[in-house]
Amino acid sequence: RAKHEGRNGYRFFTTEMQTRSERQLQLVNALSQALEREQLTVHYQPQISVINGRIVAAEALLRWYHPELGQVSPAEFIPAAEDSGLIIPIGEWVLRQAVRQARKWMLDGLDPMIIAVNLSAVQFRHSDLPNLVTRILDEEGLPAEYLELELTEGVAMHDTQNAVAVMNNLHARGVRMSIDDFGTGYSSLSQLKKFRIYKLKIDQSFVRDISTDPEDKAIVSAIIHMAKSLGLQTIAEGVETAGQLAFLREQGCDEVQGYYYSRPLPAQQFEEFARAKAMVKP
Ligand code: C2E
Ligand code: MG
Ligand code: MG
Ligand code: MG
Repeated sequence: RAKHEGRNGYRFFTTEMQTRSERQLQLVNALSQALEREQLTVHYQPQISVINGRIVAAEALLRWYHPELGQVSPAEFIPAAEDSGLIIPIGEWVLRQAVRQARKWMLDGLDPMIIAVNLSAVQFRHSDLPNLVTRILDEEGLPAEYLELELTEGVAMHDTQNAVAVMNNLHARGVRMSIDDFGTGYSSLSQLKKFRIYKLKIDQSFVRDISTDPEDKAIVSAIIHMAKSLGLQTIAEGVETAGQLAFLREQGCDEVQGYYYSRPLPAQQFEEFARAKAMVKP
């Protein structure tokens, strides 16, 4: 961008960087008090089986409302939380909230479903992750097979040896792991063989134009078919239209997630959505 600014480009660029890091500092500052001030909440978005339309899982998505900054997008504050290390306490809080909510839904008689929690690379590298996960499951009373951790490709590809060890450990404890935003990183499906992954989440950037763009059609179809031949499940993210769903169904995609079925919802609304859906015969 600096190029377009000619002579003043350099100055413009530094000013922009400065503004960006000031915002970053402001965010980190505010975020460090977000937990104690109870500004964080977790919303839940259903993951739906393409075969029978049932809710298979709920993905926990963090929300932050700050009185002056307003609603801040996770796309902006999660990186700030990662850089500052705040993702460790915040990530633990999300995990506990989500596990507790899943246990509550189970007791309240909702059909069994998996709770999927996003994990950042920083959390994954933190030494004690498997013990933390086990402790939270024990304390909240949720069997491990109901928890899924969503990892990004970077987690698996960076420090592969450690990643394999941590995944083996979590797998042995019964926790499921999926790869989020699949296709946006640099991993190949064959590399994923090393990892204890059971599901690929096809990134929404490939799904968006699936009804019109032949290349996106080809990419998504290839991912689904290769995943299948490796024994992996697939879920498409960002499904917004019946047309997208139809193509995914035709290709044999197992599950979908997106506004077509539901936006991420506060816990109470998610529960109502799930109860209404359970009454509809497939
Ligand atoms: P993600 O894990 O890939 O989550 C999917 C994102 O797509 C969510 O954005 C969700 O609201 C959005 N989405 C779902 N369906 C649709 C759709 O049909 N159309 C469109 N356009 N978008 C859809 P959100 O909630 O803003 O979160 C953004 C990212 O922030 C997440 O991407 C995840 O990487 C990160 N994130 C959110 N919560 C957490 C958390 O608790 N921990 C960590 N480490 N990261 C989180
Ligand atoms: Mg995710
Ligand atoms: Mg994703
Ligand atoms: Mg994402």
